[in-house]
Amino acid sequence: MRLILLGAPGAGKGTVAKMLTKIDGSVQISTGDILRGAVQAGTELGKQAEEYMKRGDLVPDELIMGIMEKRLQEPDCAKGFLLDGFPRTIPQAEALKELLARLDIKLDMVVNIDVPREVILDRLTTRRTCSNPECQAIYNVKSNPPKQEGVCDKCGSPVIQRDDETEEAINHRLETYNEKTAPLIGFYEKEGLLKTITGTSSEVVVKEITAALGL
Ligand code: ADP
Ligand code: ZN
Repeated sequence: MRLILLGAPGAGKGTVAKMLTKIDGSVQISTGDILRGAVQAGTELGKQAEEYMKRGDLVPDELIMGIMEKRLQEPDCAKGFLLDGFPRTIPQAEALKELLARLDIKLDMVVNIDVPREVILDRLTTRRTCSNPECQAIYNVKSNPPKQEGVCDKCGSPVIQRDDETEEAINHRLETYNEKTAPLIGFYEKEGLLKTITGTSSEVVVKEITAALGL
């Protein structure tokens, strides 16, 4: 499947994407994971992205398009892909449209995961992430804690609160979402690709997606 997952930070895009990869081998492409990996590895890209990310600001469109242009041409994308956290702005959506046309790739659907703001806020403040850039497993101190406190079940690395998950940065990310990313809902509605799913359970979101795709 070839999908874009839209939704506010904390809507569950990453969780839904991971569940969908198990269905048909499509790969999850998370620009947030790629950027965090680059920051931790101290690469040139990481150095350029770090300050924006700490503040909860978006990284410039050109940097993101550079990443995605390469990533979408890697062989593992042939089976399908789930774009998680990209596109995030109208210019990114327009550049993606042009890129996909050039690569002769058609999207199946754009899923807008719509979750109430109180749920989002609660999830983000209680979210914890594995610090290993290769893993980045997501936990929640209330609903899904690691078996041993502060230690990743999957890889044993420390589980931490992200720099951009302080209350101030979270509020800023939500404002940025409303201002820069929410307009993509109208963009993809016009393209005839949009499906909005309201709900807080990732299992239900996944079921609705597979049903809509006839899987
Ligand atoms: P969330 O969706 O939970 O806010 P992500 O992991 O998707 O988190 O992104 C974390 C940060 O990485 C964003 O706040 C932003 O700084 C940067 N980022 C990720 N994807 C993009 C993108 N497509 N465009 C610009 N910045 C991005
Ligand atoms: Zn881990």
